[in-house]
Amino acid sequence: MSGHTSPWMTEELSILREQVRRFLDREFVPHRERWEKDGVVDRAAWRKAGEAGLLCASIPEAYGGGGGTHAHDVVIAEETGRAGLGGGFGAGNGVHSNIVAHYLLAYGTEEQKLRWLPGMAAGDLIGAIAMTEPGTGSDLQSVRTTARRDGDHYVINGQKTFITNGQNADLVFVIAKTDPTAGAKGVSIVVVETAKAPGFRRGRNLEKIGMHAQDTSELFFDDVRAPVDNLLGGVEGQGFKQLMVQLAWERLSCAFGAVVATERAVELTSDYVKDRKAFGQPLMNFQNTQFKLAEAKTQAVIARTFVDELMMRLLAGTLDPATAAMAKWWTTDAQCKVIDECLQFFGGYGYMTEYPIARMYADARVQKIYAGTNEVMKLLIARTL
Ligand SMILES: Cc1cc2nc3c(=O)[nH]c(=O)nc-3n(C[C@H](O)[C@H](O)[C@H](O)COP(=O)(O)OP(=O)(O)OC[C@H]3O[C@@H](n4cnc5c(N)ncnc54)[C@H](O)[C@@H]3O)c2cc1C
Repeated sequence: MSGHTSPWMTEELSILREQVRRFLDREFVPHRERWEKDGVVDRAAWRKAGEAGLLCASIPEAYGGGGGTHAHDVVIAEETGRAGLGGGFGAGNGVHSNIVAHYLLAYGTEEQKLRWLPGMAAGDLIGAIAMTEPGTGSDLQSVRTTARRDGDHYVINGQKTFITNGQNADLVFVIAKTDPTAGAKGVSIVVVETAKAPGFRRGRNLEKIGMHAQDTSELFFDDVRAPVDNLLGGVEGQGFKQLMVQLAWERLSCAFGAVVATERAVELTSDYVKDRKAFGQPLMNFQNTQFKLAEAKTQAVIARTFVDELMMRLLAGTLDPATAAMAKWWTTDAQCKVIDECLQFFGGYGYMTEYPIARMYADARVQKIYAGTNEVMKLLIARTL
């Protein structure tokens, strides 16, 4: 919201915000429409983002990253969302920098970190994480993809779907069973380097109702051989635990995306209703408009206040997964409701994709589905009752 300063902001972050805003306006915004038509962000753009410091901002400099904190990641994500790029580069970079790079940083062996993180920070290696399969999404323990040890290799067989960065990915962190008889304890993460993986195949770049510039794909693994050195962390059976520990940050970053979109919707709509006239007066003069937008702004401010508070806890190392789950479900739910109400004020124009509010409406819906569905969030919260 204009005039609001988050308590975790610093002068250095304000400078970063300005730099990112200028970079995106100059280098990325002019390409947005083409990327949406192509269904993917150019690889060249990823390299430019790397040069500009937009990738792996919270990865230590020793591994080629920006040496910042998650506050740096959030500033970059907020500006990406405000520039209307949240459903393309924003989503892809969220997975790449905020999720995949942090799995590597937290669990990778020193050799793995040195091998892959610098390339990820430069935009030479694009990361993806492949959990979901056609037969299982929420119930991750039931994944059927296997990674069977054969000498110095794992042999991977299975199929994944809905994988963000699926077309572009160079490094796919595959959630697979190294011991299919051991339930959650048999789950491991094996890194597939797509350039060196015969038997690895990218399926369709899936057509979605929104997020058109994001390459979301099926991936196939037919006897793909990955060296044992590619087992994340080097110890089998850690995959499920590794996935659980990172969740608080993943969910909070999703919530930040929701808050930025909600704020942007209120701002775009407030401007529109002051301009658009019906029955001889601006839409803003109708009490219905004032009440609806007052409600929307209230939701945006509540959401912002909550995520800012959780960001302070995250930076202090005290954010727990259940509270992060509250932020994820509540803010994404509010995002969808507010954008729907806002779109109504645009009348027929709100249904035209050339209007940002229409694209935001389509982009928003998935927020309640991925990063753990909102129902799964409520299950996690209920366990703390
Ligand atoms: C655009 C997009 C990008 C994505 N990116 C990735 C990615 O990069 N990597 C990746 O691995 N996956 C990704 N996903 C997949 C996403 O994480 C899954 O779609 C999600 O986890 C839900 O799984 P599912 O689709 O199999 O639904 P299901 O698990 O089949 O769920 C169907 C419905 O049942 C509900 N449900 C399930 N279990 C319960 C329960 N116990 N109690 C109550 N309700 C329940 C769910 O909430 C949901 O409403 C992406 C999805 C999309 C759409």
